[in-house]
Amino acid sequence: MIQESSLLADQACQRDIVDAGDYYMKVVKAGQTVRILDLEGNQAADTLFYNAADPAERYSAIDTIREQGNVYLTAGSRLLSNEGNLLLEIVADTCGRHDTLGGACATESNTVRYALEKKCMHACRDSWLLAVAENEEFGMSKRDITHNINFFMNVPVTSDGGLTFEDGISAPGKYVELKAAMDVIVLISNCPQLNNPCNAYNPTPVEVLIWD
Ligand SMILES: [Zn+2]
Repeated sequence: MIQESSLLADQACQRDIVDAGDYYMKVVKAGQTVRILDLEGNQAADTLFYNAADPAERYSAIDTIREQGNVYLTAGSRLLSNEGNLLLEIVADTCGRHDTLGGACATESNTVRYALEKKCMHACRDSWLLAVAENEEFGMSKRDITHNINFFMNVPVTSDGGLTFEDGISAPGKYVELKAAMDVIVLISNCPQLNNPCNAYNPTPVEVLIWD
């Protein structure tokens, strides 16, 4: 569902550019709104959310999908935790649909999906592991890396129940915006994937903006 935002970028209290292959890890406080902006289009932002007070409580694709009765995320989607609590709600979306089934790229999956020589290519899971290692204050480790959202990524479910990675439906300037219901850690890997069309074989930066 296309829902535009009335928030103005120049009134944001924080703005960060996240290059492809980099991570973003910050706390968004309850009541704040965070926007992920696809600057150049067709980029995938692989994202995890945690309760900042207790990262053992985190985004649950399973609970979110079951409660909303839809496998895709868009404006109006309430992102639930593994304890059934509301973490954030998607309040604006100019892309229209986001994946939470496809998972993130990893060196292992790159090897299986593409070729053995892809083993050493940078992948989202590496970026998340680097993030938790470089941000010890959150008290997280690799055991906290679980199922994620792929903002802007087009992973349609086929009529026979399969998943396919397709050319993106996002475009330059499209965004998704979420309002936090509790203090949440936002952990994004801006995907460096070079082997499938989800980011047009050309990973590009995203911008993350926060409003009070
Ligand atoms: Zn990735």
